[in-house]
Amino acid sequence: MNGRRKVVTALAAAALVAAGTSRAGEARTNLNVVASFYPIYVATLNVVGHNPGVSVSSMAQPTAGCLHDYQMRTDDMVALSAADVFVVNGAGMEAFLDKAVRQAPRMTVIDASRGIDLLRDGGQPNPHVWVSIARHMQQVANIAAGLAAADPGRAERYRQNAAVYTNRLAALRVRMQAGLKDLKTRDIVTFHEAFPYFAEEFGLRIVATIAREPGSEPSGRELARTIQAVRRAGVKALFAEPQYAPRVAETIARETGATVYVLDPAVTGPASPNAYIEIMEKNLAELQRALK
Ligand SMILES: [Zn+2]
Repeated sequence: MNGRRKVVTALAAAALVAAGTSRAGEARTNLNVVASFYPIYVATLNVVGHNPGVSVSSMAQPTAGCLHDYQMRTDDMVALSAADVFVVNGAGMEAFLDKAVRQAPRMTVIDASRGIDLLRDGGQPNPHVWVSIARHMQQVANIAAGLAAADPGRAERYRQNAAVYTNRLAALRVRMQAGLKDLKTRDIVTFHEAFPYFAEEFGLRIVATIAREPGSEPSGRELARTIQAVRRAGVKALFAEPQYAPRVAETIARETGATVYVLDPAVTGPASPNAYIEIMEKNLAELQRALK
């Protein structure tokens, strides 16, 4: 009696272990995918698509914005300890990644920026890779390849979903290139270092960046320098981000006669697979309004 119960318990335990294990050609029953923050979460939603048994969540709240100074919270650790796969932007955005991997050594980490040509500023790679649509398409491909390797039974589904989404992104890029072809001026002033990839992709010139990191206020001297640069270049459009108070941009606008517009780096928004494309469409309309 006693011996038999032991065997049954051992079998139940073995079944539990098997449920969480993947074998080539066989779908894992449940796959828990956690993305680090908003733009990677939206991309992962698209790659996973409607896929029974696969859950996708975001570690950081969709209101968290960029993760430059992000401190992992207890519930982040709890979420990661239950994750099979952790999808990160990479390129230095997740400074807490080593700590996360130490705490949850069994999860598979997918680096969405692997192999992507990075812009540098001040010797450091600029982590805002997703703000370039072309590079974001490569991120989507990396996410799909990583998920296919981690979950071979659903590999074909991930690849198909990624192909569909990549086509939509390619069409968006063509629309934006056409829409931004004939601007009167291509000089812009932005907040925080989120836009060099975007500017490179669409031939815009960032004359000044008001604050390098979100949340950090420029010093009086930096502010004076920015005002001077805006005047000298004759810049008419300043671009604040919806995530941050436009107070500093308004001060510069007052001093220079420029107008404050909004450019969204897609770091916050709704939990919708269409969100990235919708945000970029809004950016297109705003740039046309500001620079025509
Ligand atoms: Zn940032």
